[in-house]
Amino acid sequence: MNIKTTKATAPKVKPADESKLGFGQKFSDHMFMLDYDEGQGWHDARIVPYGPLSLDPASPVLHYAQEIFEGLKAYRSQNNDILLFRPDENAKRLNNSAARMCMPEIDVAFNVEALRAITNMERDWVPASEGTTMYLRPTMIADGAGLGVHAAHKYIYYIICSPSGAYYKNGLAPIRIYVEDKYVRAVNGGTGYAKTGGNYAASLKAAGEAEKKGYEQVLWLDGVSREYVEEVGSMNMMYIVNDTLLTAALEGNILSGITRMSILTLAKDMGIKVEERKISITELLEADAGGKLQEAFGTGTAAVVSPVGELTYKDKTIKVNNGQIGPITQKFYDTLTGIQYGKLPDKYNWMVKV
Ligand SMILES: *Cc1c(COP(=O)(O)O)cnc(C)c1O
Repeated sequence: MNIKTTKATAPKVKPADESKLGFGQKFSDHMFMLDYDEGQGWHDARIVPYGPLSLDPASPVLHYAQEIFEGLKAYRSQNNDILLFRPDENAKRLNNSAARMCMPEIDVAFNVEALRAITNMERDWVPASEGTTMYLRPTMIADGAGLGVHAAHKYIYYIICSPSGAYYKNGLAPIRIYVEDKYVRAVNGGTGYAKTGGNYAASLKAAGEAEKKGYEQVLWLDGVSREYVEEVGSMNMMYIVNDTLLTAALEGNILSGITRMSILTLAKDMGIKVEERKISITELLEADAGGKLQEAFGTGTAAVVSPVGELTYKDKTIKVNNGQIGPITQKFYDTLTGIQYGKLPDKYNWMVKV
C-alpha cells in the first residue's frame, strides 16, 4: 500500500524549551491515517496535517468504546539517528487487542512501515536533550453510524506524535503505590490483556482516590480473590525477592508489556533467576517481613523502569529498599535506556532506524 503525503501548509513552532515539554501535551505537524471498510479492507494510507477528526455522533466508538491503542517512542541517538524501539511488537500487540475487540487486524510489516513513515516525516520533532523522546500513539477506532450493539463496519487507524520531556528530571525517583482492594481492573475472560480505552476509563476512580491519599499509582489485585498482584496503571510490576525476579504471569488479566518482555530477556542474560507466576500480596508482605523483598519496580514505555519505594496494603505500609532505588532496578534502567538511545550495543536487534 502506498502512503500519500499532504504537507502542512503552516508548520507549528517547535517548543524551544525541551525541559517544559511534559508528556503527551504537544503534538507534531502531521499524522498517519488509514481507513477500513467492510468488504474493501484497509485503504487510503496517507500522511496528512495534524487536526481534528470528523465523526458521526452515532459513531460506535463514542457509545460502545470499540477502541484500541498502542504507545511507543522514537529516540534521537548521539549521532542523530532516529530509532524506534521494537515497533513490530507494538504492531503485533495491536492485532491481539483488535482480535479481542472485534476489530480488523493490520498487516504487521505494513504497520511498521507506517510507524517509520510518520516518524521520518516528523523527525525534526524528536527532541534532543537527555531523556526526551517523541511518543507515538497508534489508535484504532470504530467509525460509521449506528446504535446497534455489534462490531462496526468501518474503522479508522491513525498515528499521532507527541514530543515528550524526560520522565525523570532529577534521576530515578521511587514512587509510592497503593494496593487497591476495593476496585478491580480486570477479571479472567474480560479485556485486561487488550490495550483498550475502556480499561482505563474503569481505572480512573481508583487512581483518583489513591492520588488524593498521596500515591502515584494503584497496584491492582486479581478481581476474584483480591489476593494476587497484577499490574499498575500502565506498567507491569516486578519484584526482586531473595535474588529472584518475580513478575505476574500473562494469564489474560494483564497487558503483555514490551518493556516487561525486554527486561525479562535482559534478566535472563544477566544470569538473574526469573519466575513468571501468580504472586500474592501476602507472599510479598511476608518476604518483606523476612527481609527478602529487595527491590520492586514498574516497567512501561513511558517511564521505562520506575522504582517503587513504598507499598501500602490496607493499613500496612512497607518501605522497599528503604525507599531508595535498588541496584538491579538501576541496572535495568541504565541498560534498557542505553540500548534505546543507541549508547549501548543493540545485540537483540530491538532498535529500528528510521
Ligand atoms: C501499555 C501498558 C503497559 C506497558 O506496556 P509497554 O509495552 O511496556 O509500554 C502495561 N500495562 C498496561 C495496562 C498498559 O496499557
